[in-house]
Amino acid sequence: MNFKKILIPPLLVLPLILTGCGSSSSDSTETTEETVADTSTDASTDTSTDTTTDTSTDATTDSSVWIINTTDEVSENLYESGTNQGSRVNVQSVETETVEDLEYSVVSATGIANYQVTLSQDEIDTLNARPKAATDFLSGATTAEADVAFEFGEDIGFNSNNDCETTGGAGYWPPGPVCPENLSRTGYFPNSPEPATDDVESGLGAMGYWVNGTSVYQWGDGQSYNNEGVWQTLAPVAEVYDVDVCGGHAANGDYHHHFSSDCLGKMVNDEGTDHSPIYGYAADGYAIYGPWYSNGVLAKSSWAMRDYDDASSTTGCGTVGVRDCVLVDEFDVAAGVVASADGPTTTDEYRSLSGNIFIASTGFFYEDFYWDSALTSLASEYLDQFNGHDSGDDLGYHYHVTITQNDDGVQTPAFPYTIGPRFYGKLQDNSIVSNMATVGGAPDGGVPGGGELPDLPLCEADQEPEIGVCIPVI
Ligand SMILES: [Zn+2]
Ligand SMILES: [Zn+2]
Repeated sequence: MNFKKILIPPLLVLPLILTGCGSSSSDSTETTEETVADTSTDASTDTSTDTTTDTSTDATTDSSVWIINTTDEVSENLYESGTNQGSRVNVQSVETETVEDLEYSVVSATGIANYQVTLSQDEIDTLNARPKAATDFLSGATTAEADVAFEFGEDIGFNSNNDCETTGGAGYWPPGPVCPENLSRTGYFPNSPEPATDDVESGLGAMGYWVNGTSVYQWGDGQSYNNEGVWQTLAPVAEVYDVDVCGGHAANGDYHHHFSSDCLGKMVNDEGTDHSPIYGYAADGYAIYGPWYSNGVLAKSSWAMRDYDDASSTTGCGTVGVRDCVLVDEFDVAAGVVASADGPTTTDEYRSLSGNIFIASTGFFYEDFYWDSALTSLASEYLDQFNGHDSGDDLGYHYHVTITQNDDGVQTPAFPYTIGPRFYGKLQDNSIVSNMATVGGAPDGGVPGGGELPDLPLCEADQEPEIGVCIPVI
């Protein structure tokens, strides 16, 4: 299934109401920049040298799920940095390689997508109704026209980051995010993944590849209320105006989706009439399927939201609307709550780094959610704490991207959106997560040690980004 020219109605600009899921709290400081590399324990092997390469392609794996560029197609809008040479799109190759007796699919990809997008008039209207449309677009409104297809990276009037001048893409991304770069990277995905024996947290940065070779990111955007490490914001919520019409954006050149992308769903022909096809693979080797469990039935997150608005709730903090406590363990709600730094009340406003104002209602922060084991037990479409299941079909254990859908068909990402907050499977030493320290690296602003890359902060015109904060331009 190779890249196709498909007309893709993009995901509607996401409503900011989080429907239906819950939240968790966490020990305040631990979760901010947790690095998978630190918490994984598979210490036994040293993969640095002894690899045997089998360059015969994809013998045993289902490589057909990857969107492989067999024609050297290049992007019309995104270029090799500083040149007018279009970057190759999608996945370049998938090969099988054995490393220390474990077989991997080795996926080479640029990280550049080739989505084609067609917006309806309603979607155009939604774009133009953005709260900061007057400055988000150079002329105050998108130049995209209803029912006229455009390509990934094509100028639709956004006031993009200056960075886009070196790679192309100006006008496709809203202000803030940088433009994507050809990363020419390789990811190792074990063909026989195994469950983890320890808790393996997902971190910032790539934790999987979507089937078009772009990055899977988790719930976080690396930001928290007053930068205190607790009350961490959720990328699909706080950055809803900071993603493109396909629900993605780049950090450090790395184009990624934090949640289900309708553009990707169209590429893999997911009609919602059956169990979804594979949308990507997590770094542990388990597949990430689309949002559908069966015909018209969504796979359901079993993460529930705390109840701050009932003073007697065991998940709240005793005073209506107040956030001054977090759950002791978001995976065990019975463990109760513990005092924390204050967060906004559920009616307070929260100003994101891109200057958009949100009401911090329940579901705005990571700490608002907990895993409800009773939901997981309810029915087979309810997922576990890792956002996956083995529902007894021939798919084995797998993750799902999770969304909710209202009666009007409007879809909203549902926490934890992709996988996580922990991996189900063991991370091998050569996983893309473990490699981030060398692939990403501190020179681009990565976090030393783990190499987990937060989304670049989105700053006002009179500010400029530092790591994690905006500072006034002097
Ligand atoms: Zn499933
Ligand atoms: Zn992001």
